[in-house]
Amino acid sequence: MYDKNNIFAKILRKEIPCDKVYEDEFSLFFYDISPQAKIHILGIPKFTCSTFSDFIKNAENKNIISFFKSVQFVINKLNIEKDGYRIITNSGEDGGQEVPHFHVHILAGEKIGRLR
Ligand code: 5GP
Repeated sequence: MYDKNNIFAKILRKEIPCDKVYEDEFSLFFYDISPQAKIHILGIPKFTCSTFSDFIKNAENKNIISFFKSVQFVINKLNIEKDGYRIITNSGEDGGQEVPHFHVHILAGEKIGRLR
């Protein structure tokens, strides 16, 4: 069950501000409030979905394709493709997801350490 009062739903409704990097019909990208790397951006689809699997199973293909094309657009915009980056999505309790609206983290700007 999707929680309409999660922080990212509020950001999408413009009830809470964000430091926007890119926005279009299908998605919004903004800086993480508590960055874990020199560059730390969050990307969220505007589609109502709580996890990656929820998004892939329930959104229309045009929505899914547009979202992931936008991830690459942001990578180009920030000029991080050459040096590299890490894309992460946390899902559910074991994945350590805190905000229950599907999002990707784009981490870059320095060497990102190993998870383990
Ligand atoms: P998760 O653990 O769910 O994958 O990641 C949630 C992310 O959202 C965290 O990195 C956290 O710092 C970020 N975050 C939480 N609240 C806000 C907020 O109000 N604004 C922004 N820009 N990021 C937030």
